[in-house]
Amino acid sequence: MRTLEERVAAPAELGVALIGVQEGSPVDLDLRLEAVHEGILVSGTASVHVVGECGRCLDPIAYDLDADIQELFYFEDRVLFEEDEEADQYRVEDEMIDLEPVLRDAVVTTLPFQPVCREDCAGLCPECGARLEGDPDHHHGVLDPRWAALAGLTDTAADEAAPSTESVEREES
Ligand SMILES: [Zn+2]
Ligand SMILES: [Zn+2]
Repeated sequence: MRTLEERVAAPAELGVALIGVQEGSPVDLDLRLEAVHEGILVSGTASVHVVGECGRCLDPIAYDLDADIQELFYFEDRVLFEEDEEADQYRVEDEMIDLEPVLRDAVVTTLPFQPVCREDCAGLCPECGARLEGDPDHHHGVLDPRWAALAGLTDTAADEAAPSTESVEREES
């Protein structure tokens, strides 16, 4: 067994649309490499600093993430799988393993699909873009019924906007 403790620079595009690891920022690898029958088992963590923005209010988000890594790199001479499965297999190539795709998988799958600054972030008014934080009564008095229906759609995605919907509905009846 070998251990690999190393700081490397993050590759480009280590992330998703709203959130990810900046290219060149430090990635601290703390890995064990074990030779097993089929290949080399790599396990441990990759510690990265994640930056992005809240999907609701667009505030910046930043936090440290320890992504778990556990992957088996198969020896080249092992043919264990059907061809259509082979694309998913990591391989030891020329006695080297390429950790970048493993790092990418480990980090990207851990990132939130819809990042928020806080679980209860009130977000922005879908109509005027005003921040709803600290202004829960914010609403627009005159709503075209068609817009009201659209507002209802966005409110299902963000439950905490519900109080303002109720006040709008009361006005209409
Ligand atoms: Zn937010
Ligand atoms: Zn508004």
